[in-house]
Amino acid sequence: MQRLSLCIDIDGTVTDPYYWIQRANKYFKRNIRPEDVIYYEMHEVLGVEENEYDEFYSIYGTMLHKEAEIRRGVREVISELYKTHYIHFVTAREETMEFVSLDWLNKHRIPYDTISLLGSPDKVQRAEDLESDIFIEDCYENALQLASAGFEVLLIDCSYNQGPILPNITRVYHWYQIKEIIARHSEKEAS
Ligand SMILES: [Mg+2]
Repeated sequence: MQRLSLCIDIDGTVTDPYYWIQRANKYFKRNIRPEDVIYYEMHEVLGVEENEYDEFYSIYGTMLHKEAEIRRGVREVISELYKTHYIHFVTAREETMEFVSLDWLNKHRIPYDTISLLGSPDKVQRAEDLESDIFIEDCYENALQLASAGFEVLLIDCSYNQGPILPNITRVYHWYQIKEIIARHSEKEAS
């Protein structure tokens, strides 16, 4: 079996994509539901200016990341994948979120080899550095950018990432499906 380099985004990919809604609703006095989240940019969903959202995030960001719920199957599937593959978390979160990010991964007993907090949505360079075989993402723009650079992407289906995809992007619906795809991929690589 080929040891694959698996790059995994954090927010919306291993965390529940809608965990921030409750706090944001309260702060901005909105009544957003998960199905209303049709934009990736949260300030657009909330109908507020970007700097207003940034202000909210500067107050509640750490708490939001700490409280984030985990997606179904994540711990089980990543623990299994970690036995035979490299697990690299690659997030756009800022370096200042390192402690809360590591703490959350430990709390949920998610094993990994490396974590990169890029502070930027541009993940192509890091995918190259890590020799990514498969990149798991929830952001539509990131998926397109990575796929255009030649990387294979699994795009985890969300209300905000609908749209046409490229041939090396596979839309997936849950982590058990991700596990199956990776198992098939590593068999194919080995043969
Ligand atoms: Mg994400």
